[in-house]
Amino acid sequence: MEYKILIIEDEQRIARFLELELQHEGYVIEKAYDGRNGLEKAQSDDFSLIILDIMLPGLNGVEVCRRIRQSSQVPIIMLTAKDSTMDKVMGLDTGADDYVTKPFAIEELLARIRVALKRKSSIYAKPSNTLLVNGLKIDLDKYLVTYNDSPIELTKKEFDFLHYLMENKNMVLTRDQILEKVWGYSYFGDTNVVDVYIRYLRSKIDNKFNRKFIHTIRGVGYLLKDE
Ligand code: CA
Repeated sequence: MEYKILIIEDEQRIARFLELELQHEGYVIEKAYDGRNGLEKAQSDDFSLIILDIMLPGLNGVEVCRRIRQSSQVPIIMLTAKDSTMDKVMGLDTGADDYVTKPFAIEELLARIRVALKRKSSIYAKPSNTLLVNGLKIDLDKYLVTYNDSPIELTKKEFDFLHYLMENKNMVLTRDQILEKVWGYSYFGDTNVVDVYIRYLRSKIDNKFNRKFIHTIRGVGYLLKDE
């Protein structure tokens, strides 16, 4: 299968370097050097994945990512110069699947690309595409979550996380398992991001509907109970 990747990066030297490396791996590449042009390309063609720099002229990467997400669930890997947990969380909360901090080793980026492409096919190619637990329903085709028919708006990462919890209902999932499955690799042992996202999910689901879905198993991890 041929994968087509869009690189949105204003530093032409980096864009060219990425293009050569990715072509060498067999990917088909398109490039854009500013946010607006990148967004146009992303919206007018069907890409397998997008590599998106955060600092871009015209329209920055966060805004480009938000706008792409309004109509597409294409995997997006952000390139960022920032490197603290909250920045990572903020970056991912825009709907990006992953991020790589500059300067990066090309092998690391290639590994993230493979993970994102693989996860995309495992998440979206399932024969049965809805799950139902305690009135909470997730529809993987329509990308919708509802509780007794009230819609719940989730970011992409929250959606993937909830999907994983629902798929494994009544099983305790450790933070490491969650990181590996939802984020695709270990965040160098930084499992805080899991707790941050548990808070997001609880505020949008448990607190909103005044019902306890997600249980904390102290010292171990989390569990979605079917009751
Ligand atoms: Ca840049």
